[in-house]
Amino acid sequence: MQNRPKQNDEIRTTCPYCGVGCGVLARKKTDNSIVVRGDPEHPANFGRLCSKGSALGETTGYEGRLLTPSIYGERTDWDTALDLVASKFSEAIAEYGPESVAIYAAGQILTEDYYVANKWMKGFVGASNIDTNSRLCMASSVAGHRRAFGTDTVPGIYEDLEKADLITLVGSNLAWCHPVLYQRIAAAKQARPEMKVVLIDPRRTMTADICDLYLPIEPNGDVALFNGLLDHLSLHDGLNADYIEQHTSGFSDALTSAIDGSSPSKVAELTGLTQSELATFYDLFLTTEKAVTIYSQGVNQSCVGTDKVNSIINCHLATGRIGREGMGPFSVTGQPNAMGGREVGGLANLLASHMELEREDHRALVSEFWSAPNLTKKPGLKAVDLFKAVREGNIKALWIMSTNPVVSMPEADKVAEAIQACPFVVVSEVQAKTDTSQYGHVLLPAADWGEKDGTVTNSERRISRQRPFREPMGESKPDWWHICEVARRMGFADAFQYETTAEIFAEYAALSAYGNAGDRDFDIGALAGIEKPAYDALEPFQWPRKVGAEPSQTRFFANGGFYTADRKGRFVAVHSEAPSDRTDARPMLLNTGRLRDQWHTMTRTGKSPRLAQHIAEPFVEINPKDALVLGIREAELVSVRSDHGDVLLRALITHRVKKGQVFAPFHWNEQYASNARVDTLVRAVTDPFSGQPASKSTAVSVHFA
Ligand code: SF4
Repeated sequence: MQNRPKQNDEIRTTCPYCGVGCGVLARKKTDNSIVVRGDPEHPANFGRLCSKGSALGETTGYEGRLLTPSIYGERTDWDTALDLVASKFSEAIAEYGPESVAIYAAGQILTEDYYVANKWMKGFVGASNIDTNSRLCMASSVAGHRRAFGTDTVPGIYEDLEKADLITLVGSNLAWCHPVLYQRIAAAKQARPEMKVVLIDPRRTMTADICDLYLPIEPNGDVALFNGLLDHLSLHDGLNADYIEQHTSGFSDALTSAIDGSSPSKVAELTGLTQSELATFYDLFLTTEKAVTIYSQGVNQSCVGTDKVNSIINCHLATGRIGREGMGPFSVTGQPNAMGGREVGGLANLLASHMELEREDHRALVSEFWSAPNLTKKPGLKAVDLFKAVREGNIKALWIMSTNPVVSMPEADKVAEAIQACPFVVVSEVQAKTDTSQYGHVLLPAADWGEKDGTVTNSERRISRQRPFREPMGESKPDWWHICEVARRMGFADAFQYETTAEIFAEYAALSAYGNAGDRDFDIGALAGIEKPAYDALEPFQWPRKVGAEPSQTRFFANGGFYTADRKGRFVAVHSEAPSDRTDARPMLLNTGRLRDQWHTMTRTGKSPRLAQHIAEPFVEINPKDALVLGIREAELVSVRSDHGDVLLRALITHRVKKGQVFAPFHWNEQYASNARVDTLVRAVTDPFSGQPASKSTAVSVHFA
């Protein structure tokens, strides 16, 4: 049944949860309920869906929906609400300048939403204060890619995960966080048992179930591990000298830096791994040509996240194992459309269509294309700094779109205080009551999945359509419409005249080709001017791809061609030592993460009783040795404290975490559990290059409740 072809009453769309970007066939029944199944023809999942995707029909009903605009809690009409938003933003800009306003959005909004939000903020407001929760997800990968490749490009494709002979997963619980990719690897391994899978993670997650080797690395030991690997490759004739010579620069500095911190005893100390474990992994990598290294939040969410990314990329550049079948570093994104957002400049330090905010020629080009009166000249505030600016009173008008920072941002209580103190807060939301919407002065009802129309880009750069299959509930409208209506009311009507998302997509495609003399491979100009029927019929396709390349030739950098000035890939010298987070008062390290059956702050998945059956309560995993010392027994309530907060969680005593470490999922909001917002504990320290918070190593103490 699962693989039967699409039926006439089914709409082809894309799952709104993780960055795997699975195709979904959705059907609305006569009672308005929704039935979904995996799209057998979608190249990301070939009919598979995970538990979250399968439960989509259970999470899209009327329950809890925000159905009408409101101002200060009072229902109002759209015109009144939008007039107020436009006047408050205009007043703030007039009195305090363009940098006194900000948008905080999400990797859940569609590329077309992102495009107009960026266009409005960067081209017409004249500031870059638009950041998203993708900052919490993939910013270190973006920064690492840009340092190494000159642009934010994932070199490989999903097929490489099946073609590889060695898959190394670093800081990635693929089994729970990207389940369909995990299933694809598991199936490939079953078909080819000689394929090896290695898991590198401080916590022994379910992903270890298919692994041949599990390395319980110390938090932030990754740079030391991969510096040690680079040293090992150089000592054992494992380098690809031709590739290094022809296509890269900076190798000797990177190797020197690697050798500095890579005596076997030093690597063992910094990684917490035995020399035997290290040698086993190093020899596997050395001797296996077809090697893919997948990394995710365990790499990105660190104060040295960008260096971790580059330490991995260094090893692939050094062996020339990049952009070839079954080879390459592979960042898998958490968000469904973090990649689409990045493509249209959806972070405070990006422009649009992979153009650089720092480059005057790129700014001039975008300014001309948009006829923008006031194009921003410098990067804006990244998420953590943005909320600090709100707290310090420097942001006078804040628009929060499709995300719940009062639960998901580090030092979440301070974020709540900041939003509460902000003079004017707009929240565009699907749900009526979230931990964040309670502080919104104006609430704007947003159309949900199944009602929205647009595109998303998954972790292998594949653009797929999200198609509507029912009318927006109540008076809800898509996010792009909210922005355009405010922009029009602020005097920018000519630039925000869109009637459909097809028009927005066509403009974005035209921008990607504008002034492109062939020096950018991100030209999607063939779709410039696409009409709605063709847009509606768009099949999933990969982008960017090299100019003139066949659709199947979507890998990058096998023969160099990087996007640096000299077209060479950059080795980055990275240092093995990472700061220690523990203190005497807070002797344990808190690792945060996701569960198999919940998504983000549960505003959607929390509606499904079936999904709640997997794990019903917030919990903290504690090693038995720590539990013994603390006198904590299984299932007791414990208080986990950091310098920033205190939460109440159920103790789960397990060897999955090492002594001195605890793990807690961050999903629970106040609606589903009291005093369990785990991100209230997390320290708002960030990676210096990416601005991504270090959400996986906060010093905490554990106490009886
Ligand atoms: Fe959705 Fe990700 Fe599950 Fe696929 S793997 S069904 S995209 S949540």
